[in-house]
Amino acid sequence: MIAEWDLTQTNQRRLKENMPRVAVIPTSAIEPHNLHLPIGQDFLHTSIVTRRSVKKAWQTTRKIIALPGIPYGVDCNLLDFPIAIHVSQQILDAMLREIIQSLRHYDIQKMVLINGHGGNDFTPFIRQIQYDLDVYVFQVDWWKVAEDHYEELFSKPDDHAGEMETSVALALYPELVEMSHAGVATTRPFKIEALQKGWARTSRRFSKLNEYCATADPSAADPEKGTKYLDITIERIAAFLVDLVRAPLDAYFPQRDFF
Ligand SMILES: [Zn+2]
Repeated sequence: MIAEWDLTQTNQRRLKENMPRVAVIPTSAIEPHNLHLPIGQDFLHTSIVTRRSVKKAWQTTRKIIALPGIPYGVDCNLLDFPIAIHVSQQILDAMLREIIQSLRHYDIQKMVLINGHGGNDFTPFIRQIQYDLDVYVFQVDWWKVAEDHYEELFSKPDDHAGEMETSVALALYPELVEMSHAGVATTRPFKIEALQKGWARTSRRFSKLNEYCATADPSAADPEKGTKYLDITIERIAAFLVDLVRAPLDAYFPQRDFF
């Protein structure tokens, strides 16, 4: 069966009958995640989250389309481990600019980037492209969508290859997870107080943290936790996409008037 909400599967006859108003583009990374998760982790989970969210939104609105994702991300700080592929933010932005220009050519003005890699930051790009073109671009870092449920589901914090990311992998592609090889991944703390507190920030070179290319302990990972976290996430993203389709592009969009 043709997934009509997927640009790679639909065809121009169907598109001519029903042009989408919102386009969804996954952005991710190809990089090592501890010793137990696949290199394609961010690419795999972000593609699935995007596809499931758009498919769910499609049940309510047919004015939406999922594009194939950009597999690569900003990874210059992970290159000490095999094999990360680094594509600079500048190049990602340039590629997205041309994708968005193509969509704009077909009168699609609302775009959503479903981002699955913490090293990617499209904020300056979005600010600029909304000034340059008549478009509205939104970035959703999908792992943050259900953050308010994080503590009820997970026992330990995560930002790379820990309990949450491993639980998600166990829920989505358990055959690719080699749990017995997972390292505990304790990280060397910052030596300067302002960095420990977090109000002074920097970019971490992962090989200085530990030998796993990971920042958190995955040992308590569990597929059920991953499924619950994903379900809440996908439900919320799908609802956002529907809201976005329905919101008229009036003078204040995406703001509403005071009353
Ligand atoms: Zn990841």
